[in-house]
Amino acid sequence: MKQARRLDNAPPYLFVEIEENIKRALAKGIDVINLGIGDPDLPTPGFIVDKMIEAVQNPQYHCYPEYDGSIEFRMAVTRFYKRRFNVDLDPETEVVALLGSKEGIAHMFFALVNDCDFTLVPDPQYPVYNLATALTGGVPYPMPLLERNQYLPDFSRIPKEVLRRSKIIFLNYPNNPTGTVASLDFYQDAVDFAIKNDIVICNDNAYSEFTYDGVVAPSILQAENAKEIAVEFHTLSKSYNMTGWRIGYAVGNQEAISKLKKMKNNIDSGVFTAVQTAGIVALDSGDQFIQGMRAVYQKRRESAMQCLEKLGWDFSVPKGAFYLWIKVPNGYTSKNFTSMLLEKAGVVVAPGNGYGEHGEGYIRVSLTIDEKRLEEAFQRIEALKI
Ligand SMILES: *Cc1c(COP(=O)(O)O)cnc(C)c1O
Repeated sequence: MKQARRLDNAPPYLFVEIEENIKRALAKGIDVINLGIGDPDLPTPGFIVDKMIEAVQNPQYHCYPEYDGSIEFRMAVTRFYKRRFNVDLDPETEVVALLGSKEGIAHMFFALVNDCDFTLVPDPQYPVYNLATALTGGVPYPMPLLERNQYLPDFSRIPKEVLRRSKIIFLNYPNNPTGTVASLDFYQDAVDFAIKNDIVICNDNAYSEFTYDGVVAPSILQAENAKEIAVEFHTLSKSYNMTGWRIGYAVGNQEAISKLKKMKNNIDSGVFTAVQTAGIVALDSGDQFIQGMRAVYQKRRESAMQCLEKLGWDFSVPKGAFYLWIKVPNGYTSKNFTSMLLEKAGVVVAPGNGYGEHGEGYIRVSLTIDEKRLEEAFQRIEALKI
């Protein structure tokens, strides 16, 4: 069957490939430990599930939802942003509910990018920024995230000609996959740069609640004048173990939010209102639950870092998100090291090159697995005596 040219531009989604390798290993009877996927392993907390059970019985919620999200959900988002970041938002014009943030991120590219426009995206990156660019017919311009720059992009290296043709800048802090947390000073520079060049800037803040060693992640909207140009994407997926529920939101610059709404109104019909109702209790009453999850990840992170130190491997101490970004030993590439770990130890990790050219030479290990299995994975790796 023939397919649209835009689909030819999109390489297979990284995790689809990983899933296939896992299936093959499982078929061979290998006890696979999966450290490759960033999907929280623990269940959604009971108080959210209970609200959903109640809400799903309300016939009012069985009809089409409101396109932009219910006003009650959008108001819960504004309460969360005020409490957490001290940012004021207008629920009518500066908030939109999303079917998970991945959907909103992809549609933001569709709302802003034309054929042959540039998008300024991090490298390594959460692969959706490149894929969405490819589907719009635009061209991703990678901003390298280098260890020597604390995995922050250097805007001064982007050529003027590229800037002139760029429609969107995408950031993601706390960062997947490197674990870097951006400071408010960095966001201020980023916002000033975006205003000066008149390019919409988006921050994907999926991991705002998962930071360690006393670090607190700011919002890009805390920067001065941010609302002139900035949008932030957020999701309930990671904070409340709700990846399967599909609920997130975008907040910030009115004009950009309104373009995103226009795009979405023509493609989807909003988030199931019962899910939004459960989302409201998550946003209003979830702080304590998040605190507990943060402690869980902090503990796993410490245990994994101890194992890595024992192995003598080179890695950056992550201040946020729930991943370890690890250099592969000398003589390996991301891909052959990943294959070797699966074949010889039954351990799945994500190859760094799947996150971009500058991810080559790294692997990403997720902390979304219980501590015992995590330790067992490292014991198996140790036994390989690499
Ligand atoms: C998990 C993740 C998301 C997507 O989450 P949704 O479930 O679609 O809300 C977005 N950005 C990053 C960086 C992620 O890791």
